[in-house]
Amino acid sequence: MDDDIRDILIGRASIAKRLDELAAQMLADHTEAGHEPAELTLVPILTGAMIFASDLIRRLPVKMQIRVMSISSYPGDATTSRGASVEAALTRIPESLAGLHVVLIDDILDTGTTLLKASELLRAKGPASLKTCVLLRKERDVPPVIEADYVAFSVPDEFVVGYGLDYDDYYRNLPDIAVLKPEVFGGDGHSDDADAAGER
Ligand code: 5GP
Ligand code: MG
Repeated sequence: MDDDIRDILIGRASIAKRLDELAAQMLADHTEAGHEPAELTLVPILTGAMIFASDLIRRLPVKMQIRVMSISSYPGDATTSRGASVEAALTRIPESLAGLHVVLIDDILDTGTTLLKASELLRAKGPASLKTCVLLRKERDVPPVIEADYVAFSVPDEFVVGYGLDYDDYYRNLPDIAVLKPEVFGGDGHSDDADAAGER
């Protein structure tokens, strides 16, 4: 697996340090002066946000529920978005979110289609508050259709893997955030080869 990596963009130590800061900020934002922090409902988007969310929640010592959503936009080995669709069978959000302070968590904000779709779905269920949180935000020429309230890191507009992010469902277990060597993408006759080689 390590032989497939071109560059490590963000190492595990930097991730851990930044998560400490992010969790502290999230706690402060959900705490009214003189009160305990509010109960939270965290909604990680499967599968990419799994590792980020699991490290983040253990830094949030508050009463919390975890619900999940599945939104697919990069089927299989695609490296450019195909539009976001909610996968109902893997989505477990209660009928109503009334009175709940919800934090939606995703791995990466690219076009913003995924985060927008997910936040619209949650907002329609009437939460007391809704915040959005992403591990990464891509520095794109065209801004995303929605901004996130919490962003751990900005990354250049390249296809990244690791720390939950996949290519063709592999590399999620890399402890760092990395860019793959171009030859990893090519050669199997898929139409995404050109995208993956950086020609998009
Ligand atoms: P958006 O809907 O904002 O265009 O894309 C967000 C989704 O696309 C993320 O949830 C993530 O699953 C996927 N995605 C976007 N950029 C990348 C990337 O560079 N690497 C990987 N592995 N997934 C990405
Ligand atoms: Mg995703």
